[in-house]
Amino acid sequence: MKGCVFCDIAEGRAPATIVLEDPEVVAFRDLNPQAPVHVLVIPRRHIGSAADLTEADDPLWGRMLRTARSVAEQEGVADRGYRLVTNIGRESGQTVEHLHLHLLGGRRMTWPPG
Ligand code: AMP
Ligand code: ZN
Repeated sequence: MKGCVFCDIAEGRAPATIVLEDPEVVAFRDLNPQAPVHVLVIPRRHIGSAADLTEADDPLWGRMLRTARSVAEQEGVADRGYRLVTNIGRESGQTVEHLHLHLLGGRRMTWPPG
């Protein structure tokens, strides 16, 4: 989608430190990391948020989750544990309207989240 920074990253028009990718999804380091490991997993296709997923996207969502697991293994946090978060809409704090999973790890997470 025009003007979408994550579409630009997925299509190689904007820079990013990509850690894993396949034909459907891309995982890259967050520009403003909130933990020692902070990677975003996105679908290449523009989807606004998890609230816009359809039944046809079930395999894509599963692929995003499995990619996150692979990234966690690659980043060495799989055994310690990590957090997956996806923000939806204004009150959640979503700032980029292209579906993304935050993978946060490498430190003790707090609960409840802020
Ligand atoms: P959210 O607040 O859930 O929409 O998360 C958006 C995330 O994208 C934030 O953690 C930002 O730091 C991150 N972000 C925004 N632009 C970029 C970019 N060009 N490259 C990497 N991460 C980005
Ligand atoms: Zn997009």
